Amino acid sequence: MQLIDIGINLAHDSYDADRDAVIARAFGAGVGQLIVTGATLDSSAAALRLAQAHPLRLFATAGVHPHHAVDVTRDALPRLRALLAEPRVVAVGECGLDYFRDYSPRAAQREAFAMQLELAAECGKPLFLHQRDAHADFTAALRGHRDALQRGALRGVAHCFTGGEAELAVYLEMGLHIGVTGWICDERRGQHLQHLVRTIPAGRLLLETDGPYLLPRDLETRPASRRNEPAYLPHIAQVVARLRGETLAECAAHTTAAAQDLFGIPPLPANKPASPAASPR
Ligand SMILES: [Zn+2]
Repeated sequence: MQLIDIGINLAHDSYDADRDAVIARAFGAGVGQLIVTGATLDSSAAALRLAQAHPLRLFATAGVHPHHAVDVTRDALPRLRALLAEPRVVAVGECGLDYFRDYSPRAAQREAFAMQLELAAECGKPLFLHQRDAHADFTAALRGHRDALQRGALRGVAHCFTGGEAELAVYLEMGLHIGVTGWICDERRGQHLQHLVRTIPAGRLLLETDGPYLLPRDLETRPASRRNEPAYLPHIAQVVARLRGETLAECAAHTTAAAQDLFGIPPLPANKPASPAASPR
């Protein structure tokens, strides 16, 4: 079994003390490849450095999270473009709109999102999308690229999907992939998602931890730190598989293949098992 954590904020400072051990635990748990989320220009550059240090295993996204949209200045565009030209950067983002926290003014969020949609259309890399409480404006922005989306020329993942049935239908119709996190392991707030996950077609479903956030609530032993990490992805995959009536191996196979296809990630060579000892350093 091989899994890919398509959303791990591994450049986050909560991993500073033991990042190598976190990566080794992921590989040891069968999470052989990680896509490290960039949320600012600096964290995107840090994500790229991690990807460069672990070829074939770690990949990066480059973008500006809506929380940080207010920090986007004139020099952001050339810096982002340069990061996106790097082969180990496999997606544009994390980008989108967040009207739940509103850490950046909404107009600034919309502007930063529009810029990154243009960059995705320009570089041909898929979008790593974040949306919270902003569905109407978010889909309006994407619809500006509807033709490209429907031709498959512009692709992306609605990461950490926690929305409802109507939202899911719109995303699937636009051709987006759906990223599911350990939110689904929460028997209270994840309940609607536990039902909806059955309706996501194989090939469009991706798995992610979104660590250090969203530690699955139902882990048998939860770390005192409450920090989430990619080694918990098999637990999330197991929950998703059970809900979909699949075996863990079936769920791992189609979600991994879908991630490799969307992000253009080569499969791990068969002679390199997902173990820390075999990982390139
Ligand atoms: Zn997010």
